[in-house]
Formats: sequence, structure tokens, C-alpha cells
Amino acid sequence: MFIFIDVRPFRQQLDYNQTMTCSRCGHFGRYEVYLAGNRFRLFFIPIITFGKKYIVRTSCCDTLYLLDEQIGKAIQRGEAVEIDERNLQLYREGGPVERSCRHCGAAYTQGAHFCPNCGTKLD
Ligand SMILES: [Zn+2]
Ligand SMILES: [Zn+2]
Repeated sequence: MFIFIDVRPFRQQLDYNQTMTCSRCGHFGRYEVYLAGNRFRLFFIPIITFGKKYIVRTSCCDTLYLLDEQIGKAIQRGEAVEIDERNLQLYREGGPVERSCRHCGAAYTQGAHFCPNCGTKLD
């Protein structure tokens, strides 16, 4: 008999909506919460789930954080909890953040050494 076994990563968005002002990019955004992990399947039927983790994504700059498990579980149960920055651990930084030159106000991408507009040295 042929037995079909595979392992599939999965990611499921949880029903959660919290607006915040992002500490990373300074924009107004939302926290989206995902449950991610791997599923061990037998004939396409999930048998065991392992490596479960709760991930928070910011809608403003696409940064990913690992969320404290207790908070994640509460969200999954549908409880009204608020995500605090202390519950988050940086997982993957999002896209480049736009900043503005303190001399002329022109926008530049984080990491640039000189302002593209006036040439002022940036820090
Ligand atoms: Zn942001
Ligand atoms: Zn400038």
C-alpha cells in the first residue's frame, strides 16, 4: 500500500485588529496577527501541528514580530487583548523607512549617508 506523508508550512490570519503608531517607521498602521507553523499530514489530512508561533505584521512597513505566546493564544480564543511592544520580539525588519533630512526636509531612505538633495551628512 502506498502511504502519502508530507509536511506543509501553514499561515493563518487571526481575527484581530489593532491600530497603532509604529515605533519603527512612525506611521499610523495596524497590527495583523498570524498563526504560523508546520503540519504533518497523512493523505492530506493534518495529523500533528508543530513549530507553532504567533507572528505580528505591521501594515505600514511590513515588519514581522514574534508575539508572546500567551497573548497569541488569547487572541486565538477571541479575547480582547491589546498588543504591547513588550510582547513583541523583532523577527524580520520591513522595507526601507523613509526619513527626511533635518537640513532641507527632503525624503531619503534609511541607511543613506548623504542627503540626495542638499548633500548634508546624515546620521
Ligand atoms: Zn511601520
Ligand atoms: Zn537635505
